[in-house]
Amino acid sequence: MPRSTPPDSGPEEDFIARLLSRKKRLLVNRSSQFQDSGFPNAEHLAETVTFAPQDGFIWLCGQRMMLLQGSAFGAMRRELIKSMGKDKARGLLTRLGWQAGARDAAQVAEQWPEGDHAALYSAGPRLHMLEGMVNVEAVRFEIDNSIGHFYSEFLWHNSLEADEHLATYGLSDEAVCWMSIGYASGYASSLSGRLIVFRELECCGCGQAACRIVGKPANQWDDVSAELAYLDAEAFLSESNHPMPEDDGLLASEYEVDLSAEMVGGSSGFIAARQLLEKVAPTQATVLLTGESGVGKEFFAQTLHQHSRRSDRPWVALNCANLPENLVEAELFGVERGAFTGAERSRPGRFERADGGTLFLDEIGSLSASAQSKILRALQEGEFERVGGNTSIKVDVRVIAATHVDLRAEVAAGRFREDLFYRLNVYPIHLPPLRERREDIQPLMSYFLRRFTQRYEKSIPGFTTRLVNVLLTHTFPGNIRELQNLIERGVITCDEGEAMDVKHITLGNKESFLTPTGLTASGRLQPAAVAETVASAAVPDAELGRDELFGAETALDNLRAFVSGQRRELGTTLEDVETMLIRLALEKSDGNITAAAQMLGMSRAQVSYRIKSQK
Ligand SMILES: [Zn+2]
Repeated sequence: MPRSTPPDSGPEEDFIARLLSRKKRLLVNRSSQFQDSGFPNAEHLAETVTFAPQDGFIWLCGQRMMLLQGSAFGAMRRELIKSMGKDKARGLLTRLGWQAGARDAAQVAEQWPEGDHAALYSAGPRLHMLEGMVNVEAVRFEIDNSIGHFYSEFLWHNSLEADEHLATYGLSDEAVCWMSIGYASGYASSLSGRLIVFRELECCGCGQAACRIVGKPANQWDDVSAELAYLDAEAFLSESNHPMPEDDGLLASEYEVDLSAEMVGGSSGFIAARQLLEKVAPTQATVLLTGESGVGKEFFAQTLHQHSRRSDRPWVALNCANLPENLVEAELFGVERGAFTGAERSRPGRFERADGGTLFLDEIGSLSASAQSKILRALQEGEFERVGGNTSIKVDVRVIAATHVDLRAEVAAGRFREDLFYRLNVYPIHLPPLRERREDIQPLMSYFLRRFTQRYEKSIPGFTTRLVNVLLTHTFPGNIRELQNLIERGVITCDEGEAMDVKHITLGNKESFLTPTGLTASGRLQPAAVAETVASAAVPDAELGRDELFGAETALDNLRAFVSGQRRELGTTLEDVETMLIRLALEKSDGNITAAAQMLGMSRAQVSYRIKSQK
């Protein structure tokens, strides 16, 4: 039967058709056996295991994992069977396994986009082994996507689930490795984009020497209604596979969908903040955003504005810390001509320009007492005077304020007006630092990689496992902004088509990144150490200290802000900009001064002189 034949309508075909429409597809064009070579291999997968015991994290392929006693799993399995009956418990465990398998497949496809097709499929059984569920022996393993062929037959030894079942119930008259079967089906289906059903034909739980399992596309089995029932296709699809919602509701769904699409993150702290944002966006409430520098307060504020009823009105932002004290009030409320020397024309302030829209006041904690009282009045009465003026101006402005300092402490210290604090603190949203939302690091890495490869028109396939491990355990004092800078720098430094590695983001800085505790291919833990590639990437003639590196980063940021018009002054010396460019060139040339000089259109002597003059 040709594969293009549309399926008959029916619940099974519907299920298959919906699975087929999933975004992630993988085409496998050649037939291959389950093998130990290929990319990614067992060693590559083992390298993705990272332990961060000091933070309470275990990672595998960028996913947070947990170590749980097999016996605790066995006890839960027993309780499920007892309380909900065998069939329901079997369905639940099958779906749990499916979830695990589908997630692993999605991560593997994301991490090795250039991976060998057969190896990507083989990664499923390997991860299943790494996660401690079974020992897989391949009997037959055939894939040929050109004719839609998929057939695999494995033997499972040491099945954890069978052992637990035997320990509780003794020999069973039917196969019992439910979660494992769910895993195999979920992995293969997610990777191929069509429903692959695995079935256990023999099982240790029934007294056989090994579990024998066979996987085929659903339409090649005689009858998969039992399997589909355990997968509970309809409920399963609607709850766990995140199909795009049918968008006929006009109210909440419209902007919620947009928010989750725009905002990257799935950690509990981030989701809590995002939900607060979703709730307050359509209201008129004043919002106070708190959190360390670099956590994305301005991005949150902008998103809030875009999803408010004022989205088609002005968005005006002011960083109160960037202005000299005597200019803050003029900037906020405007100036009447002749108010002070240099005020040759009258001009409106940010409050006036934001009329009808949203005014974002960043670093509100740094305002002077006089500016604080004027803002309080503007908030309370919606009116103010320009500097040097005596006519009241009425505006309708929604204020979003942000601060990285503890305003309550500032109030207690007498530096911040208590009444203004309560006026602003109507709806506080705290944004957690990146080190408290580590689950979001890898999605953010991928997001910034897409963004910067587009901006710099470069093709970079992804990250090395080592870089992912290093960043998953980095402390990120500069938060998301630091991560963003690192990925941008990596995109600039990386060669076309090369995977981004630790050396691309360090610029020769030796000490700031540690290789975390991880697994060797033989399963032994290796302790944390200074990332080895960092040392090898060090620039021999121009080793950089930590301070110098931070100087270069600031120079790059300032230059970018200046060019884009966000800064009125460059705020950095031309020398620093030059130093930064020389460092980038040296990094790209692996410390070869002649090659770096060529990149910059300078002579070797010029570059050499500048390196020496920095010491
Ligand atoms: Zn079994």
